[in-house]
Amino acid sequence: MSNSLVEKKNNVWEMTLKRLNGTMSLLNLKPGMKKYLCEPRKIIEVAVTVKMDNGDINIFKGYRVQHNTNRGPAKGGIRYHQDVYLDEIKALAMLMTWKCAVAGIPFGGSKGGVKVNPSELSKRELENLTRRYTFEIIQNIGPEKDIPAPDVGTNAQVMAWIMDTYSIDKGYGVPGVVTGKPIALGGSLGREEATGRGCVYSILSALKVSNIDTTNLKVVIQGFGNVGSNAAKILYDLGFKIIAVSDVRGGIYNKKGIDPYRVLKHVEKTGSVINYRESENIAGSKIFELDCDILIPAALENQITKGNASKIKAKIIAEAANAPTTPDADEILKDNDIFIIPDILCNAGGVTVSYFEWVQGRDAYFWSKRKVNLQLRDVMDKAFYEVYDIHKKNKVDMRTAASILGVGRVAEAVKLRGIYP
Ligand code: GLU
Repeated sequence: MSNSLVEKKNNVWEMTLKRLNGTMSLLNLKPGMKKYLCEPRKIIEVAVTVKMDNGDINIFKGYRVQHNTNRGPAKGGIRYHQDVYLDEIKALAMLMTWKCAVAGIPFGGSKGGVKVNPSELSKRELENLTRRYTFEIIQNIGPEKDIPAPDVGTNAQVMAWIMDTYSIDKGYGVPGVVTGKPIALGGSLGREEATGRGCVYSILSALKVSNIDTTNLKVVIQGFGNVGSNAAKILYDLGFKIIAVSDVRGGIYNKKGIDPYRVLKHVEKTGSVINYRESENIAGSKIFELDCDILIPAALENQITKGNASKIKAKIIAEAANAPTTPDADEILKDNDIFIIPDILCNAGGVTVSYFEWVQGRDAYFWSKRKVNLQLRDVMDKAFYEVYDIHKKNKVDMRTAASILGVGRVAEAVKLRGIYP
């Protein structure tokens, strides 16, 4: 499908706004506040010019959107993906604002992206692209302004290049300009697996409040990148049975369970989960139809739609990805009594440990992995029960409850600060 068709069919910005409008009505916000919260504070669009290895010059579209900075510096990842478009980045920036507020960490929300397929670039081209993109947005980022982190298609190495470019421009080292850095440059222990780990903590909380029998729980995961694979490993270690995982090329299934550590070795060798020996290949689209207890969408937005929602048999959906479920799918899932742990709660572990990394960097004192994980558990559990209480008291679904918590906290901050001048 061409990108413009994707944009029209399921515009994630329109969907995010629609959900926000619903929440703002429930919160009885004034019209001015509503307008304010809908509008990103700053949108930056840049041409990222790169000299390729063969001497050709290519130009990639790059974006950075800062949605809100009332509760602290803007915070959010940078995505390298061939389908990146401005409305997507706007939506993801807004979701970061609500996510940081739900987690109770002192950041606003932002997101960046470059429309590029990183797997088609050499390492040198990727470095040049990253440094040029950083240069183009350099006035707008900084440890007190806007702090990038990894997202789909980026990693600790990309963060190291951003940090180096920014530091050279300033004339001194500024590790706090990014999080998700390599440990050797001031990264935090536990950051790499933090989104997956936080997702698992939220699943454990969901199991506690539901009456699901917790023996032999079957898990299906869409996406086997950083988030999906780490969630798989942690759940596997806890005794959950991972029966299927998938990536862009397709899925693998074994009703007796799959060892994610071995699947990862297979991915390292072959580039995909498919054709893993101890499982059968299935179509990627079939992953949602499998008989399981917990379904974890850990890939991109717009995956659970009106078209497939009624086929889902899971009792819990843990949204490790951002915006994986469309609003019309939500209705179907609600009718089928499926418990949803919404994205801005479920995947908040990544940005939470980003916050810990930022704090450790400021103190120049680094925590043990045990401390990082314990603190992460505290933040995730607190956020879960705060959302769950709103869900129970206000008789709204978990997504609306999370939104009420996040949007409410941001609206309070806006009101307290007032409007300048
Ligand atoms: N990209 C991650 C997210 O969507 C992490 C953002 C961050 O750590 O700033 O939550």
